[in-house]
Amino acid sequence: MKAAVLYEANSPLVIERFDLPDIADDQVRVRLMASGVCHSDWHIVKGEWVDINRPPVILGHEGAGVVEEVGPAVHSVKEGDHVVLSWMRNCGLCEMCQVGYSNLCDEPWDRRGQPHFENSERPMKRMNALGTFSTETIVPQDIAIPIDREIPFPQASLVGCGVMTGVGAALNTAQVQAGKSVAVFGCGGVGLNVIQGAAIAGAEPIIAVDLLDNKLEMGRQFGATHTVNSAELDPVEAIRELTGGKGAHYAFEAIGLVPAPYKQAILCTRKRGLTVFVGHGPDNMAIELDCKILGPEKMVIGSMYGSCRPRLDFPRIFSLYKAGKLKLDELVTRVYPLEAVNEAFDALGRGEVARSVLDLT
Ligand SMILES: [Zn+2]
Ligand SMILES: [Zn+2]
Repeated sequence: MKAAVLYEANSPLVIERFDLPDIADDQVRVRLMASGVCHSDWHIVKGEWVDINRPPVILGHEGAGVVEEVGPAVHSVKEGDHVVLSWMRNCGLCEMCQVGYSNLCDEPWDRRGQPHFENSERPMKRMNALGTFSTETIVPQDIAIPIDREIPFPQASLVGCGVMTGVGAALNTAQVQAGKSVAVFGCGGVGLNVIQGAAIAGAEPIIAVDLLDNKLEMGRQFGATHTVNSAELDPVEAIRELTGGKGAHYAFEAIGLVPAPYKQAILCTRKRGLTVFVGHGPDNMAIELDCKILGPEKMVIGSMYGSCRPRLDFPRIFSLYKAGKLKLDELVTRVYPLEAVNEAFDALGRGEVARSVLDLT
């Protein structure tokens, strides 16, 4: 199989051939058909996350494909099933899994049998034990979630990370209520999905904040009722004005690049408002806050993978899509072959796309 490898931060990915190891009893081999190119991949390319998925590594964690082979102990999928891969494993047994937050599973990833792929020189690890920038991968059965055959693979792949992270932040983590006000900082692949999650919940108004007008236009397409270009206006003041001087009931930081929007998100909420940190910024990035900032009973919570339980929430996303209530087609801005993965990163860096997808067929 072919895969795109990052050998060093800030260098182009290299396409290489690998031999796959045999699958273990509880694993499945998946022929990947599509992989989204996510900001988390980009953080690793830029050397901004050094604790996890350190290069050399096969990148990619937003994949969909067809099950080609299953181990003898596999019962949840069969050969020929179409699947979306979840990038968070769940053991089903730890405290977090038991209380319904399998997105926070305690089981360390590498204890769950990560086969390393070999090229001619050495074994190679895969991002989140997936490595979806490749034509095939091997995963434990618990993270291969079967989906309807009619869902196109590029659209399906995006549910594996960006869509779930954004929609889940609104519907699961924050549990946005109908008729309440929402501000979303960032109209990238995740932010657009926070916006459409808030729209599905019936929030009003939904205020999108970004520096780029093309992104704000996408924000409107996904359900924003108002937009604020933060290069031109102070977003905190603008959001207060749009919410009768009180501030938003909910604010979401969905950029994860610089400290300012995290702080602005807290500042723009009203009394007892909830701020959700969706963006996972570079390592060691600090936010400076006045200690009284939460005085009016404001709340701040992180969101990991949209607080999702993939087996429950992926099908929920696809039923909303099939009913025309959730946009996936519009997220696929560009499709690149695997060989053009570096161009896809360039487009992401320039803020040109909602999402690029690699066609792996
Ligand atoms: Zn667990
Ligand atoms: Zn991602």
